[in-house]
Amino acid sequence: MDALLPPRGTAQWQAADAAHFLHPFTDFGALAAQGSRIITRAEQLYLWDSEGQRLFDAMSGLWCVNVGYGQQALIDAATRQLQQLPFYNAFFQTATPPAIELAELLAELTPPQFRHAFFTGSGSEGNDTVVRMVRRYWDLQGQPDRRILISRNNAYHGSTMAGASLGGMKSMHAQGGLPIPGIVHIDQPYLAAYRRQRPAAAGLDEEEFGLIAARWLEKKVLELGPHRVAAFIGEPVQGAGGVIVPPASYWPEIQRICDRYDILLVSDEVITGFGRTGHWFGCETQGFRPDLMTFAKGVTSGYIPLGGVMVGERVARTLIELGGEFEHGYTYSGHPVACAVAVANLQLIREQRLVERVHDDVGPYLAEQFATLAGHPLVGDVQTSGLMGALLLVREAAGQSPFRPDQPVGMVCRGHCFAQGLIMRAVGDRMIVAPPLIISRAQIDEMMALIRHCLDLTLADVHSRGWL
Ligand code: PMP
Repeated sequence: MDALLPPRGTAQWQAADAAHFLHPFTDFGALAAQGSRIITRAEQLYLWDSEGQRLFDAMSGLWCVNVGYGQQALIDAATRQLQQLPFYNAFFQTATPPAIELAELLAELTPPQFRHAFFTGSGSEGNDTVVRMVRRYWDLQGQPDRRILISRNNAYHGSTMAGASLGGMKSMHAQGGLPIPGIVHIDQPYLAAYRRQRPAAAGLDEEEFGLIAARWLEKKVLELGPHRVAAFIGEPVQGAGGVIVPPASYWPEIQRICDRYDILLVSDEVITGFGRTGHWFGCETQGFRPDLMTFAKGVTSGYIPLGGVMVGERVARTLIELGGEFEHGYTYSGHPVACAVAVANLQLIREQRLVERVHDDVGPYLAEQFATLAGHPLVGDVQTSGLMGALLLVREAAGQSPFRPDQPVGMVCRGHCFAQGLIMRAVGDRMIVAPPLIISRAQIDEMMALIRHCLDLTLADVHSRGWL
């Protein structure tokens, strides 16, 4: 291991980092004062920092390292492709074998309506592609007034101008004059939040609420006029918003509404794709049939950047048969090294039956284990979908009474997790996990023991702060 240690010590890395590296979604000044944690290597689902501390990575990097770290097949695929052809574009009526192979493999692995892939470098670029593609589709259909995309509050669809506009994070919109025109939002299907706003909804059950939440779409469509609505986009399970698992009634009703008003349905599968929820794609878990599907992250298990859009036959046939040139694309659309790694990654997921494992074994086991946390005095709601899990921290578990906005309990809990060697993410008062799909039952037990310990530390901490 010593040979792998970086040639500089932690303090030197931190100083150079603070001097030159502006991190994403970061308070630059605060981080520079505090110093980054320097991550130097990884194996399976463990990371090590420059101080030699081991961390259990319960977030798969950033929801992406589905096959875990150190998979030789992916490393070999990248090495081979780097040697043979590190780059060539797909603009000049040219293509490379890995890009063709990946498009073919994705057509096989995705639901049957998908036969074509458009590649990008990231999920954000994928969603920018969606905006341009659906508007182009409706132009070609002779309905140019259909320009509006409907999305949801608290959604995350990326950080580019269109991605951040589709997203429903108010704090992102506040920076840079967003959303761009033609994007509107409805509320998210999150019963705990709905109940907080409306005490009268206390008795509402999940399934009734799912229909209510889906019908906010219908209301919005009628308000705008169906002839102006191009598409609805959503994450099958909201990820960055806090792992908000919708009621089972939600997505089928969304499908019915989109069908009724002839609106394109877009599934953002950047997190939920490639096995995360126990099916290859989250739309299969949630029971709907999208026209377009954004993907990224798990397609390469994050070993190298790649994203894209699966284009269903309805849209693809129009673009191919009526479209002429589609004036959109990126230097790295179909990057051969990224595509070669993706092919190796998807083959590995298939050969090791990781999706089936999540569905039949470790997913249900995580659900069972998370349910036991509901007895903890700090834990209100607990939700999982496959290998995504969330627990809501509350002041009184029975009364579901939330902490005040000036009591950032999630950040406190996250601090304890980090100190104990567990990477768990905090989204407001929700603590979330999304471990690699290779996780074993024994490793889930290890993670759960850490989570319980950190919840106890958090409980003691919030007591001593006088928050309880
Ligand atoms: N969509 C969803 C659902 C995401 O979770 C993310 C990233 N977390 C994105 C899009 C954006 O992807 P990227 O960061 O690769 O641009």
